[in-house]
Amino acid sequence: MAFQVPFVDPRKHYRNLKPLIDSAIEDCLSNGDLIDRHQLRDFEKHLAAFVGVKFAVGVSSGYHALELTLRAAEIGPGDDVITVAHTFVATISAIVNVGARPVLVDVLSDYNMDPAAFGAAITKRTKAVIPVSLNGRSCQMDRIMSIANAHNVKVIEDAAQALGAEFGQKKSGSFGLAGISSFYPFKQLPGFGDGGAVTTNDPEIARRVRLLRYNGEDRESGEYHFHGISGLLDNVLSSVLDAKLPFLPKWIEHRRAIANLYREGLQDLTDLQLPHFEEKNQRDAYQNYVVRSKHRDLLRAHLTSCGIETLVHWPKPVWRHRGLGLENPGLPETEKICGEVVSLPMSAETTEDQVEIVVAAFHDFYRSTSRVALSANQSL
Ligand SMILES: *Cc1c(COP(=O)(O)O)cnc(C)c1O
Repeated sequence: MAFQVPFVDPRKHYRNLKPLIDSAIEDCLSNGDLIDRHQLRDFEKHLAAFVGVKFAVGVSSGYHALELTLRAAEIGPGDDVITVAHTFVATISAIVNVGARPVLVDVLSDYNMDPAAFGAAITKRTKAVIPVSLNGRSCQMDRIMSIANAHNVKVIEDAAQALGAEFGQKKSGSFGLAGISSFYPFKQLPGFGDGGAVTTNDPEIARRVRLLRYNGEDRESGEYHFHGISGLLDNVLSSVLDAKLPFLPKWIEHRRAIANLYREGLQDLTDLQLPHFEEKNQRDAYQNYVVRSKHRDLLRAHLTSCGIETLVHWPKPVWRHRGLGLENPGLPETEKICGEVVSLPMSAETTEDQVEIVVAAFHDFYRSTSRVALSANQSL
C-alpha cells in the first residue's frame, strides 16, 4: 500500500543524494575496495570525531556492536547485565547470546531507563548496565554514570537510536566504557543494509572488538586471538555512510524542526502525550516522534485510513514473547506504554506539508469520533 505520508522515505533519501552515493559506490567497485579498506577506516575516524570519542569500530549491525562489546568487556556466564525491557529486542538478545542474564528494569515517562530502578537492581552479580537512549533522547547519563561508578558496574550505552543526541556537553555513545550505533536504514544515519559501530575511549575495547569482528585475526601478525565472527562493517557501505555523515547535523536540525511543528499542531489535543519532556540537560535528536493516547488503536486506524503510515514500537512487552524465555519482571510503565504509543512519520525527508496532513488527521479524529466510541474503547 502506497501511503500519502510514509513513515520514512528511503527512495527520496536516495534521490536527494544520488550523485554522492553513486560515486562513493563506484569508487569502491572500480578500485576493488570491497573489504576492510581505507573507506572503512576513514568512516570510523569521522564517526569517532562526530561522537566525540577516540575510537569507532565498524561492525555488521547494531546487534553485533552490542554482542562484541559485551564479549570484549569479558561479560558472560554468571554475570548479570541490567537493561530496560522497553527496547528493541537486540539489546536483550545480545546479553542472552553471550551467556549472561538480562535483568530488566522499568522506564520513566520519557521512555528511558529509570536511574533509581537501575540502582535498586544492582547485586553482586551485576557486571554491566546497558542504558538505551531511545527515540533519539539521551538517558539521564549523569545519574546512571554515578550509580554505575559507585558499584563498579560497566556502562555500555545503546545509542542505536541516539546518534547526535546530547546530554550536557557530550553526545550519546560517548559515555561509559563504550556506546553502540546502528545504521539500519530507518535510523539517523541510514545504510543501504544493516551496519553498526562501537564507539569508545578505551583502547583495549577498541582493539578487542576489531579482532572479534574479523574472526579474531590480527591482520598484521596473522595470529588468531579469539574465536571471533565475520562481522565487519561492509566497505562499500562505509564509503556511503562516510559520504552521508557531513549531512547528519543538518538532518538532526530538520528532525527537531519537524518535532516542533508536530508540537504546535498537536499540543491542544489533551488526550495526547507528546514527546517533549522536561529538559534535564538533554538535547533530543528525534529518531522517532512517539505520541501516547488511551485510544491508540482507534487513532492509528484513523491515521491509516487517511494514508498516514505509523508504527508501534512495541505492541507487547518483550517478556510476553514466549520463545524468548524471559521471566515477567513486572514493569507497569513498560506494560502501559506498549498499549498507548504510536510513532508518527519522522525522517530527514519528512516535509512541513506532510506534518500538516498528519495534524489535520488528528484533529479530524478527535472532532469526528464520538465520545461514546472513545469511552467504549477506553473500557476495553
Ligand atoms: C536498531 C536498534 C538496535 C540494533 O541495531 P541493528 O543494526 O538493527 O542490529 C539495538 N538497539 C536499539 C535500541 C535499536 O533501535
